[in-house]
Amino acid sequence: MIDLRSDTVTKPTKEMRLAAFEAEVGDDVYGEDPTVLKLEEEAARVLGKEKALFVTSGTQGNQIAVLTHTRPGNEIILEENSHIFYYESGAVAALAGVQTRTLPGIKGAMDPDAVENAIRDVDQHFPETGLICLENTHNRAGGAIVSPENMEAIHAVARKHSIPLHVDGARLFNASAAAGKDVKEFTRHCDTVQICLSKGLGAPVGSITAGDSSFIQRARKWRKRLGGGLRQAGILAAPGLVALTNMRGRLSEDHKKAAILKEALETCEGISIMNDVDTNIVVADVKERGNTSAEFVEILRDKGILIGGFGPYAVRFVTHYDVSMEQVEEAAEILRSL
Ligand SMILES: *Cc1c(COP(=O)(O)O)cnc(C)c1O
Repeated sequence: MIDLRSDTVTKPTKEMRLAAFEAEVGDDVYGEDPTVLKLEEEAARVLGKEKALFVTSGTQGNQIAVLTHTRPGNEIILEENSHIFYYESGAVAALAGVQTRTLPGIKGAMDPDAVENAIRDVDQHFPETGLICLENTHNRAGGAIVSPENMEAIHAVARKHSIPLHVDGARLFNASAAAGKDVKEFTRHCDTVQICLSKGLGAPVGSITAGDSSFIQRARKWRKRLGGGLRQAGILAAPGLVALTNMRGRLSEDHKKAAILKEALETCEGISIMNDVDTNIVVADVKERGNTSAEFVEILRDKGILIGGFGPYAVRFVTHYDVSMEQVEEAAEILRSL
């Protein structure tokens, strides 16, 4: 099977497994796991933030940011198709007790003026705007890159109103690789950021949330409250460190693979590409072909390709290192033959 459902399906490399095997460990809740400390230090350096925290998942990393930045009854501003709004099981309401103010995005990017207009005035009727969230790359916008210029403009609005800005950067390294810009060109325009080690970077488990020292100190407490205080976590941090160090440089290969799939899909009658394919995600509309997305997923499954539904008539292909260039060529051949 050629598995293009998600870059989360990547399995740890041999180097990651060896790193886990050999990891020096201790009790991380006591702050005594040298491998976790090393990963956090390296992540903070790479992301250009004072401190970083190893968390269990991207969802946990985002929720810790929302919990740390806000108080119950606050309102948070975020893009209407963002992961934090769309895919985190209502956690911002269930856990943080905040309400959401969603704004439409263009290719995942919100208009800075619209963000400013959505910030609440001081009035006893109004909730306080407690946080602004961005997503980069934007998943539901098909792995779209949100430009550093857009981030900078929204960060300026946020600072003007003394509101923190969090970036859900589950795939921020894909943005960095595709734009040919250091990841700090993006992260300098936010207060806190979450990055996934377990997507395109291929680690088995884990994410990083980074920010200033005071934020991380408070975030650590929320991680503990959420049950994310792990003990000999170096076993997990060691492959994470390999992911962060050795896997960023190869992400542009995944982008080439996505471009190959896009080209093949463009030759298919009744299929139209819905996104610009900036990075490793291709979203296609199959309605004109007379299929629902569920039917099309089944058609490809029968031919040995796994993909995901992304709406009633939309499907998503995600490339990653566990699908080789040969397999991508094979998938492209199958698509052309449809
Ligand atoms: C995958 C993803 C997350 C959540 O990561 P998990 O590790 O699956 O919890 C958050 N944001 C975006 C944009 C994602 O794509």
